[in-house]
Amino acid sequence: SSAPESRPATAPRLRSRHALITGASRGIGSAVAVRYAEEGAVVAINYSGSEDAANETLRQARDASTRAGFSEAAGRHRTIQADVGDERAALAMVDDVLADWGRLDILVNNAGVQSEAESHDYTMEEFHRILNINLTGALVCSQAAIRHFLSRPGGGTIVNCSSVHQMIPKPGFIAYSISKGGLGNMTRTLALEYADRGIRVNAVAPGAILTDINNAWRNDEEARDNVESHIPMGRAGTPEEMASVFAFLASDEASYITGQTIYACGGLTLFGD
Ligand code: NAD
Repeated sequence: SSAPESRPATAPRLRSRHALITGASRGIGSAVAVRYAEEGAVVAINYSGSEDAANETLRQARDASTRAGFSEAAGRHRTIQADVGDERAALAMVDDVLADWGRLDILVNNAGVQSEAESHDYTMEEFHRILNINLTGALVCSQAAIRHFLSRPGGGTIVNCSSVHQMIPKPGFIAYSISKGGLGNMTRTLALEYADRGIRVNAVAPGAILTDINNAWRNDEEARDNVESHIPMGRAGTPEEMASVFAFLASDEASYITGQTIYACGGLTLFGD
């Protein structure tokens, strides 16, 4: 099977919503920003590394908005540099976006990193680096967003980018596994804590997706075949297929859903082999 070349038209579901997406210069975060723009949102594209890549996402988001008839939103998209692994920088980023727009409706905690070493050799320095980005950064951004959501009648929503490794252990990636497990529990705890105050918190758990984080196998035919042979649907997923789930969860179509993780993984968590 292969990913659909086109997807069915969906009504623009994020008209005039303002969304901050972390780690959006490439991969899943970039696809989410472009999809949100296409559905009517104004987006802030956070990046920590390449400004050029962030500007490319910005260009694509502007095109998507313009094509969909949201030319005013197209002019309001922006990029914002911040290392979400640095608590102060993460907080300053949310404050900056709020000062600029005066509002925030959707926070997507997507930035994430991983590294491999056997657990007994995993350095604590590397452990803290991964946890700071994947987990602490998501919490700091969520806190700032929630303070804003509570200050106004409309509430708001958070969508976290978790992983199938929220549930399935990933040997050799102890920090990543712990960070995603924590993100799953953060999703459920925040959801319960703020459920009665107009704030929904959910997560998407991707399986094996064709992005740079998987460069170790995605450009090597044999390695990719091996990965895909372990996926019940027989193929890796695309960033666009993830963006569909992020758009649904952020929209009012998911108005009665909170504290949930949607596993978008081609059946990987079913252990179908
Ligand atoms: P990617 O490496 O292309 O994207 C990661 C993004 O996070 C990049 O834009 C990167 O610049 C950004 N980032 C890294 N450190 C940052 C920091 N300190 N501050 C701000 N941004 C930072 O890979 P991706 O697959 O698009 O990853 C996005 C998310 O999806 C991650 O949370 C990852 O764990 C998750 N995920 C990916 C897969 C997959 O198979 N690709 C599977 C499960 C979960």
